[in-house]
Amino acid sequence: MSRESLAHALSGPVSLAEDQWRERDVDRLHAIASAQLLRDQDARCQWARRSVALCSLGVDVFTYATLPEGDSGGIRAFKRAEEKLKDYLGWNEFRLSLRESTKIAVARHSLLEHKNSTCRVCNGKTDEDRIPSIPDVDRLKGWREGDGPVPMRACPSCGGTGKHKWTDEERFNSTGIRHKVMDRAFSVAHELLTASVIELDIRTRNLRG
Ligand SMILES: [Zn+2]
Repeated sequence: MSRESLAHALSGPVSLAEDQWRERDVDRLHAIASAQLLRDQDARCQWARRSVALCSLGVDVFTYATLPEGDSGGIRAFKRAEEKLKDYLGWNEFRLSLRESTKIAVARHSLLEHKNSTCRVCNGKTDEDRIPSIPDVDRLKGWREGDGPVPMRACPSCGGTGKHKWTDEERFNSTGIRHKVMDRAFSVAHELLTASVIELDIRTRNLRG
C-alpha cells in the first residue's frame, strides 16, 4: 500500500456511497486495514523472535545449571548462554548503553549468580511454613526436645526468600567493573534469565501436550 493512499485515507472523510469516488473510498479503507495488519504482523514477528531467543537461552541455562561443575557439556552450554545473554542485554528496549566487555562481564556473572543463588546463611532451609529460616536463638533457650519443632525465624540475610542477595561490592570484586548502571544491568540480566527459563518451561509443556 503506497504511503500516498494511506495518507489520503487518513486525511479524507470516508463514504461508501456508490458514486464516482467509490473506488477511492474503498481504497482508503483497505489502506487503513492493511496498515493495521502490517503493524500487527510486525508485532507478532517481534514477539516470536523474542520468544525463540529466550527459549534458546533457556535450553543453555538449563543445561549449564543442571550438569555437574566441570562437565564439558555444561561448560559449552555456559559459553553459549553467555554469548546470547550478552547480545540480549543490547536489545533496544532496555536502553543500556554498555561496552561489549561490560556486557560480557554482566552476562557471565549473572549466570554464575543464577547457578549459585542459594542464601549462604539459611542455605534455603525452610521452616514448617516453607519459609527459608534459621533457628530462633532466643526462643531456643527454653526449648526442650519433645516440645515440637525447633523454633525458627525468617532468615534475616535473605529476608525469607532463600536467595543470596548479591551486593555491588561482591559484583565489583568479581568483575572488576564499576559502572553507574551496573545495578540495572544485573536486574535486566536476571529478568532475561528468569524469562528464558519460563519460556523453556512453557514450550516443554506445550510439546508434552
Ligand atoms: Zn537466607
